[in-house]
Amino acid sequence: MKLRKLYEGKAKIVYETEEPDKVILEFKDTATAFDGVKKEEIKGKGSLNAEITSLIFEILERKGIKTHFIKKLSEREILVWKAERFPVEVVVRNFSAGSFSKRYGIKEGTPLKEPLVEFFMKSDELHDPMVCKNHIKVLGLAPVELLPEMEKTALKVNEILKDLFSKKGILLVDFKLEFGRLPDGSLAIVDEITPDSMRLWDKSTGEKLDKDRFRFDLGDLLEGYKKVLSKLVG
Ligand code: UDP
Repeated sequence: MKLRKLYEGKAKIVYETEEPDKVILEFKDTATAFDGVKKEEIKGKGSLNAEITSLIFEILERKGIKTHFIKKLSEREILVWKAERFPVEVVVRNFSAGSFSKRYGIKEGTPLKEPLVEFFMKSDELHDPMVCKNHIKVLGLAPVELLPEMEKTALKVNEILKDLFSKKGILLVDFKLEFGRLPDGSLAIVDEITPDSMRLWDKSTGEKLDKDRFRFDLGDLLEGYKKVLSKLVG
């Protein structure tokens, strides 16, 4: 049962439960982009994301990847372990897009020689500046001794998700992970893995099925997310 609201973010609300080491994540129907500058209510987005992240977390857990996911509770709610979250975003890229294309002047869609892992500091006000190991250490964003494990896990998740989506006719362009420490002290993936946090392109048509639809007004967001979900379960 949901008790006190602990935190409300752009896309989710975190609630305390009767068990101190577990929290409920409620997925909102809000879409935001550009560090919250662009914002819109899109009815149905929350339930699609709750469903997609649950499916993905279950698949990862079956493959031996530790996540905070416990179970899906309702249309828009999941139960997760309460974690000490590190304010770091770990991005894995297979193709050039988004901030990578902009920063390095590489055309969107260019395949990368090998999967690339990047770290960013989680801060809307600062527009998520890119950080390296030294920044993470000096700024105290996360224990540096955990970075190799985070990178290794991110690459493993990339292989699993790339294969999964590829079989469904979808190209995994890039995605973002967040990590935290669970009550038992283990390192785990936290937050969500949804089309809000991944770039997914239809392999045959090139259609973008992710949040870029909202960022750049490319078409109905729900239509893209529904396609992702139906391909995932199909
Ligand atoms: N991403 C995210 N949250 C962020 C920043 C990025 O989920 O705060 C995801 C984004 O959806 C994409 C990947 O991480 O799948 C890489 O994003 P990028 O660095 O290209 O930034 P963007 O151009 O999306 O701001």
